[in-house]
Amino acid sequence: MGEYLKPLPSKNLDDKPLWDSCKNHSMALQRCASCGQFRYPPRSLCPNCHATETEWRPVSGRGRVYVSLVMCHSYGPAWEKDVPYNVSIIELEEGVKMWSNVIGCPPDEVKIGDAVVLVYEDVTEEISLPKFRPAGHQTP
Ligand SMILES: [Zn+2]
Repeated sequence: MGEYLKPLPSKNLDDKPLWDSCKNHSMALQRCASCGQFRYPPRSLCPNCHATETEWRPVSGRGRVYVSLVMCHSYGPAWEKDVPYNVSIIELEEGVKMWSNVIGCPPDEVKIGDAVVLVYEDVTEEISLPKFRPAGHQTP
């Protein structure tokens, strides 16, 4: 594992369970223990019912592309060899939307509504980032 030069998430009390679950390749998201609604990013109050009781539940890893962009310019040396790359908002089956990257296909082939599945990029000993691949593609 080489040196990772892009920004990394800093684990705080709200999102530590998220990053720990990603490290275990079994992403869990925060879910309201009162109304059952998943939420992302993690926060202490349910935006639906304002309850503070929280649980962490593994997600299916299935979702659809909600927004898709192709980044054609590098915003720093760490991204130079990635250009062009995809940046997408994925709507998970559980109803939450998260920014990520669709990998494993040409970035301009990612279309809104495409089915995707969660994969993990182990970028450091401590951090694995959630990414997505087109559904049906096999992980190498
Ligand atoms: Zn709630």
